[in-house]
Amino acid sequence: MNSTVTQSQPAEFSPLRFPASPFSGGGSVDLLNPATATRLTTVQLADRNDTDQAIEHAHRASAPWSAIAPGERARLLRSFASAVEENLEELAWLEVANSGHTISNARWEAANVRDVLNYYSAAPERLFGRQIPVAGGLDVTFHEPLGVVGIIVPWNFPMPIAGWGFAPALAAGNTVVLKPAELTPLTAMRLAELAVEAGLPEHVFTVIPGPGAVVGDRFVTHPLVRKVSFTGSTSVGKQIMRGCADQVKRLTLELGGKSANIIFDDANLEVAAATAPGAAFDNAGQDCCARSRILVQSTVYERFLELLEPAVKAFRMTDPASADAQMGPLISASQRDSVLAHLDGANVAYRGATAGPSAGFWLPPTVVLPDTAEDALWRAEIFGPVVAVMPFDDESDAIQKANDTEYGLSGSIFTSDIGCALRVARGVASGNLSINSHASVRYWTPFGGFKQSGLGRELGPDAPNSFTDVKNVFIATDD
Ligand code: NAD
Repeated sequence: MNSTVTQSQPAEFSPLRFPASPFSGGGSVDLLNPATATRLTTVQLADRNDTDQAIEHAHRASAPWSAIAPGERARLLRSFASAVEENLEELAWLEVANSGHTISNARWEAANVRDVLNYYSAAPERLFGRQIPVAGGLDVTFHEPLGVVGIIVPWNFPMPIAGWGFAPALAAGNTVVLKPAELTPLTAMRLAELAVEAGLPEHVFTVIPGPGAVVGDRFVTHPLVRKVSFTGSTSVGKQIMRGCADQVKRLTLELGGKSANIIFDDANLEVAAATAPGAAFDNAGQDCCARSRILVQSTVYERFLELLEPAVKAFRMTDPASADAQMGPLISASQRDSVLAHLDGANVAYRGATAGPSAGFWLPPTVVLPDTAEDALWRAEIFGPVVAVMPFDDESDAIQKANDTEYGLSGSIFTSDIGCALRVARGVASGNLSINSHASVRYWTPFGGFKQSGLGRELGPDAPNSFTDVKNVFIATDD
């Protein structure tokens, strides 16, 4: 790979302004630009003491925040959304530099935060309880905020995943402490600044950069944090679930995936082949919803592989700052090495572009043909630009093979038979399925995993309720 081309940036964002961390007890970390492997900036980190203080401040801010009139809390969230809109380009370019995301993805991600804030700004005025018929009085329920909510975010989609947690949690009247991933804290830190600029009271939304084992762990163990919303690997999620048990702490888990893209022989094969690379390699495959297993009906298996090859080779892996980039680098050298280790000895069918434009953490899109369903390439969440293809015989074989995994996050079904599509969608044990499409996440529909892909749901109309406890109140009317 050559290092002659450096990453481009528009003049108004060069050099980028980096948000400052208000914490410093935990030392500092250098962040690298994944596209060039050069130092971007240094971020000061929080230690346990900083984290405890931030949690205590958030606790003190929670009663006044939940007491703000619903219409006023709604207005403040809309004001926060407007601040994101006004700074959308800056947020997007920060993500290109910090995470190696393509500029088109990064713009979508910043816009997603804006949209999610606007969507949940309607929630404070709609946090309805119920009136339940009882004898001798009136029975009503309230959705009471929990207090301080701790949100732990991974590095693969730093902005949207933060927003999916903090927007409904704030709307429901909680204060939020949020820990970004060690590698990608910058956009979350900037969002915290924007929240204050938009008028949210101090300590209502605090971003605390620091190690998972220090800051994230403190969200689990600190008694003033009433709920943890964790997105990340299944192994860390299990550890957090065990920790939350001590205090019966509320918990949402969004974990790993190994989702199937199931293609029947009556599908529009051209469309299925043209869209499969995007579904597997978007964000360099570092996507919990990546369709990293392609199941093709055996009658069209060879034909599908022929159609897939030009689509993979045309997938544009290039400078993520380019408007036409479809794929940038991986997040780090260690992530690239972990993916490369999976490819050692693999039966590779073909690869896409073989070199990135600079000295960053590049790996080409790769299609592999595992020999058996026991192959780690078929079973493990590789979290890189690798997709495995395997044939199936009929509908029941497709469902059996799709379900032969500990995960159950998303998946796609391509067929022209709507009956088959619905039977397979009902048969696949997965939280989010798309028929003749790869759409996974819309903020107004629920999102989450079956089996070891998670616990609870984010997004959709009910998300604010998951940041509340239901209180039942009976008022006697009879003497
Ligand atoms: P990770 O589990 O290593 O880290 C996730 C976050 O947890 C980071 O902020 C990390 O600092 C923190 N953390 C680490 N150890 C901790 C501990 N002991 N206590 C508390 N916090 C701790 O995951 P990652 O490598 O950052 O992200 C990749 C994983 O995230 C993949 O498995 C991917 O599938 C998953 N993911 C899932 C979804 C989803 O919605 N289901 C979305 C995106 C990513």
